[in-house]
Amino acid sequence: MTRYWWSERIGPGFTHGYEIERLYEERTPYQKLLIFDNEQWGRGLILDGIVQVTFNDEFIYHEMMVHVPIMARSQQVESVLIIGGADGGILREVQKQPQIKRIVQVELDEAVLRACRKYLPEISGDWDDPRVELVIGDGAAYVQKARKHGEKFDLIILDSTDPIGPSIVLFEPPFHQDLAACLSSNGTIIRQSGLPNTMPKVMPFVMARFQDVLPQVEVYQAPMPTYGGEIAFVAASRDGISVKEPGMEFVGRYYNPETHRAAFALPTWWTKLIEEYEDNGRVPVEPLSFC
Ligand code: SAM
Repeated sequence: MTRYWWSERIGPGFTHGYEIERLYEERTPYQKLLIFDNEQWGRGLILDGIVQVTFNDEFIYHEMMVHVPIMARSQQVESVLIIGGADGGILREVQKQPQIKRIVQVELDEAVLRACRKYLPEISGDWDDPRVELVIGDGAAYVQKARKHGEKFDLIILDSTDPIGPSIVLFEPPFHQDLAACLSSNGTIIRQSGLPNTMPKVMPFVMARFQDVLPQVEVYQAPMPTYGGEIAFVAASRDGISVKEPGMEFVGRYYNPETHRAAFALPTWWTKLIEEYEDNGRVPVEPLSFC
């Protein structure tokens, strides 16, 4: 096995260094994939030079993306669409909620799914669950088709890679129009929106895209040490009901009713960032200028 120091460029002049054991590497048709072991963070997945998941902090991200909207909407959430998420962490958390009747997951890259099943099975939910329909394909093409067929989902989770490479299409206006059309009247869409510390344009950009198609947009946060700090999540809905308050009780490893409420307490400079972008007429920047 090869052991060496690897680093991710987190921001300008700032990297995270990991001493890694390389377990598996592949250039898939869409991206470069690397599975590694690290003493501090355990096993993890890197795509195109960006850490996607590690054993020791993935639960924070996955629990906060799933249980915040489900607990806020309580029994209304029965159908879920997951776009991306090859590691299966989002699926695992969705499957913890007994009221869920249908889960569609659309992942572009079969090679990532395969590698995650082999090397990261502890992270993943149960792909053989009869409620799960796994579609290998592009998330944008899927929602375009779903819209034509009048399909609706109560919760849509966008767990894609950052806006580089194959996920750029998931940051474009037509995708958002299709997404909004596929959202049930009391549904929620959740997207991870980067780290304002190192990518300050992503959160306002994601908010702008959602505000073009849905009236209610809320921001919350969670600490993600391997991503480099606090990550922003954007929640969008059309019925005006806030996702800030949990309506049911659930306790995970990170998630509980207190962390749910506290996640919506934003630092003053995040609020200012949001206000500045609203004062500027909510003009979204180009996705490629994030990275
Ligand atoms: N939590 C992660 C993060 O943001 O660091 C994301 C994890 S998951 C591995 C991201 C997945 O999104 C990848 O497996 C990638 O193949 C998938 N993806 C990228 N573009 C996509 C698209 N257009 N449609 C469906 N899945 C896509």
